[in-house]
Amino acid sequence: MSLFKDNYENILASIGKERVLVAVSKTKPVSDIQALYDLGHRDFGENYVQELTDKQQQLPDDIRWHFIGHLQSNKVKYIAPFVHLIHGVDSLKLLHEIDKQAAKNQRIISCLLQVHIATEETKFGLSEVELNELINQVNLQKSTGGLPSVVIAGLMGMASFTEDREKIHQEFRHLKSMFDKAKINFVDKSISILSMGMSADYQVAIEEGSNMVRIGSLIFGAR
Ligand SMILES: *Cc1c(COP(=O)(O)O)cnc(C)c1O
Repeated sequence: MSLFKDNYENILASIGKERVLVAVSKTKPVSDIQALYDLGHRDFGENYVQELTDKQQQLPDDIRWHFIGHLQSNKVKYIAPFVHLIHGVDSLKLLHEIDKQAAKNQRIISCLLQVHIATEETKFGLSEVELNELINQVNLQKSTGGLPSVVIAGLMGMASFTEDREKIHQEFRHLKSMFDKAKINFVDKSISILSMGMSADYQVAIEEGSNMVRIGSLIFGAR
């Protein structure tokens, strides 16, 4: 009987079948990931490149690995052979490197653009203005055949760390409105994923339109 079974099943029931649960396994041992895998789960999220590549080598090949941390351009090559979705893209430079490494591996890599919606300075990501600029730049490049090996699949964001539920609602609502606009403005019409919501705020995120939640401590316990 898996340690995580009850937590996992409760979360699955509360998010519903139409949303994706990314189980955030950072700092947790491979045995924890294997236990959830044995319950049928396949989407796992990691924040650090070294930790992700170590775990990927030890675990089954059909796991869909989500990179949810801050990705440096010089590390893209390590995850490009297998990564399923990169959540934290915030520059054209990084997109170009992902495109290059995807092509080298004869893959197409899906990416989410990370938007800064929290008031805390520490959470990186694009402002709304920067997001629109980046979408325009990617549109321009794609229209002339550039960036063939990356797909912009959606947006990702993190709300402020606060007890103020209304503030969290507002931040997620803002991200949802940017998502709706991006869906229309983006030339590829590939935008379909809105990754928002963590252990503390995923229910708010779902109420505001999230279709992918990233949950760690509520499944695996505190880090
Ligand atoms: C760690 C992390 C999570 C999961 O956090 P929990 O509070 O443990 O659910 C989700 N998203 C990102 C980007 C993270 O770094």
